[in-house]
Amino acid sequence: MELRILGSGTSTPAPDRNCAGYLVRTTGKMFLVEAGPGTLRHLAKLGTDLKEIHHIFITHFHIDHFNDLPAILFAMKYGLPEGRGDLTIHGPEGLKENFRAIHQAYGNQIDSEKYDVKIIEHGDNSYEIESVKVTTLPMEHSAPAIGYRFDGANGKSLAYSGDTAPCSNIIKLAMGADALLMDCSRPDGSPLPGHSTTSEAAAVAKKAEVKTLILTHIYPDNDTTDLEARAAKFFDGIVIAARDGMRITL
Ligand SMILES: [Zn+2]
Ligand SMILES: [Zn+2]
Repeated sequence: MELRILGSGTSTPAPDRNCAGYLVRTTGKMFLVEAGPGTLRHLAKLGTDLKEIHHIFITHFHIDHFNDLPAILFAMKYGLPEGRGDLTIHGPEGLKENFRAIHQAYGNQIDSEKYDVKIIEHGDNSYEIESVKVTTLPMEHSAPAIGYRFDGANGKSLAYSGDTAPCSNIIKLAMGADALLMDCSRPDGSPLPGHSTTSEAAAVAKKAEVKTLILTHIYPDNDTTDLEARAAKFFDGIVIAARDGMRITL
């Protein structure tokens, strides 16, 4: 399983961090996770063939996680005139309504007669896609949000918190995973409701007994060179501070 960081930033603009975006590859399949501003350009920078993306997973509808979606659909329609299969967009409750609003705004700019777009809302459930087991659980954020866990056919697993405060569900979702990609928005001493601080992210990783903690959704004032060392005080496993473009193999 491979995780590619497309965007490890937040709503606050940062020169080296796009808004949320990740690419998960496992057993030849490619999942796009989040579609924050900058995602489409980063996919192009990596030479990603959009035809290979058949599933997009969204954690919630804040702009920094969602707003490249119309641009991606537009690119899929006009940038790839030939041969793409159907697309499924996964997200929390409200996805259908949000998608209707996007559709109302952009209509035939994003509609293609060449492929179908399916919308699936998730809460607390588990399902299989292309031989990957996907599990979702509601997270604790200022808007309805879910986290995802991907258990690949190769036995490797990745849990992703999206935006969340530390909560029992993220511990449950990540339990025993090879890696946890975790909200690490704020420095200790400067918390933000619905998000996690560095020590809180590390404490979740410890409680969930994951092997590797990947810190992401990093606000500029938490973006320090000793971020990994600060998290490592609270978690004994491997700690990686995400950087845009980084490739992590599990
Ligand atoms: Zn966010
Ligand atoms: Zn958010």
